[in-house]
Amino acid sequence: MSFCMSRLAPCILVPFNLVAIFAAMSKKVRVRFAPSPTGGLHLGGVRTVLYNYLFARKYGGDFLVRIEDTDLSRYVQGAEEYIFDTLKWCGLEPDESVQHGGDYGPYRQSERKDSYRQYAEQLVKNGYAYYAFDTPEELEKMRHAPLAIGVKTEQTHTQQYDHTIRMKMRNSLTLSADETHKLLADGTRHVIRIKMPENETVSFTDMIRGEVSFETSLVDDKVLLKADGMPTYHLAVVVDDHLMRITHAFRGEEWLPSAPVHLLLWKYLFGLENMPQWAHFPLILGPAGKLSKRDGAKYGFPVFAMNWNDPKTGELTEGFKEKGFLPEAFLNLLALLGWNDGGEQEIFTKEELIEKFSMERVHSAGAKFDYEKAKWFNHEWIKKTTVDSLRSPVRNLFEQNKITVSDDVILDKVIGLVKDRCTLLPDFIQQSSFFFKAPESIDVDAVKPKWNEAKQLFFAELIRNYELAIEWNAHTLENNLKEIAAANNLKPGELMLPFRIMLVGGKFGPGVFEIAELLGKEETIRRISSAIKMFG
Ligand code: GLU
Repeated sequence: MSFCMSRLAPCILVPFNLVAIFAAMSKKVRVRFAPSPTGGLHLGGVRTVLYNYLFARKYGGDFLVRIEDTDLSRYVQGAEEYIFDTLKWCGLEPDESVQHGGDYGPYRQSERKDSYRQYAEQLVKNGYAYYAFDTPEELEKMRHAPLAIGVKTEQTHTQQYDHTIRMKMRNSLTLSADETHKLLADGTRHVIRIKMPENETVSFTDMIRGEVSFETSLVDDKVLLKADGMPTYHLAVVVDDHLMRITHAFRGEEWLPSAPVHLLLWKYLFGLENMPQWAHFPLILGPAGKLSKRDGAKYGFPVFAMNWNDPKTGELTEGFKEKGFLPEAFLNLLALLGWNDGGEQEIFTKEELIEKFSMERVHSAGAKFDYEKAKWFNHEWIKKTTVDSLRSPVRNLFEQNKITVSDDVILDKVIGLVKDRCTLLPDFIQQSSFFFKAPESIDVDAVKPKWNEAKQLFFAELIRNYELAIEWNAHTLENNLKEIAAANNLKPGELMLPFRIMLVGGKFGPGVFEIAELLGKEETIRRISSAIKMFG
């Protein structure tokens, strides 16, 4: 892959990553997830966490979370807490973080503010960066300046602060040393910008994409240190990956265009032998291109891991958790959004993923998110999950729906009976609330057309029979019904639908005799007799 566009000037190829590959192989694996606390964690974010986590666990390494909060204007209250709650729900707990501690803290970049300036100054001293004193007005004027001769114009193009214009701006490259010192001594607002070299091609070997190269002349002179003294993402990510001894840096494809800046910072500041190996994960695609946070509301599926309540807009975005996904299913479906093990297997436990995951099998092409498939994963996981593990989430759901479940033995039996019919956790309510409270409505219309006196008499006799029953289990109840039906010349098949509707209210649910067994004698008889009155 190449980000290098054709040019007349010669390219100097710098094989940055070979050194890094060998260096990284000999060290303890250390990976990081580096979110900016700007909102809820969407599918792509959690997938980045997952792949980092799997890689760390596979190689017995460390997985850390670093909060990248240097852009104060984008900081969102509650986002950091949300990130950790999500990791907890997913079972992807880091080894080191703001919440977990560790030897390489602080793990919040705003608390490391003072450590970045020295690196920016070092770059200036060595001629790789410069002070820029341009005012907002001067920058605005620059953006609309005519483009350099030979540069193709596009209507939307605005002039970037780059090698074509830097010598016309107010910075330490154009001012004399004395003028620069004076401005600095007077405390004039300034930033530090990287001086992107002209006509160099920089490249690295991405673990997923292979060799990726960029032409430096096409990249602008990014700000490294802002006027408020905070580093930008570019400087902070490189400094911290170095100080935190990161061996592998994995992130989404959207960060690929930043790679040339980071590569050069590694080269200028720390030497290539310390540079982590990089991998850029493929985009997650929604129904119309890159999956956006807005797609959730638009197409009716969740895109965030958990409910996200945006404090700025007051808007609530539904999460996979609240929609009724099990964390195991969520991880499983995320793992396969961009990776497969090369075989037919689709259902993986976390342990299997740790064993089988490999960066080489992550695809570079975008991964299409299919909500129907996501639900299939959840259905398979509900089937696979033990009653023991389902008890607590299902009980919570009943509580939320104000349905009293007093007996855990019954609850366990109910879960065992209906779990194969549930795709999302709330299906348990629909599939089994009738076990705990009489149905609110009875589908009388489904029974009435075929209801007659013979059936009425049959159910009256069934009640008498069941009242006398000594054994109360599905098998006996079925036998009794069949005997009475035979004695009255009725086909059991015709009686099943009314019987089911009497007990559950509609045409759904597990085996009707299993339902009666769990409802118990008293409740079964009560429901039959009250329904007979309605049908009559
Ligand atoms: N802070 C960046 C983000 O919000 C991290 C990118 C990286 O991992 O380098 O995604």
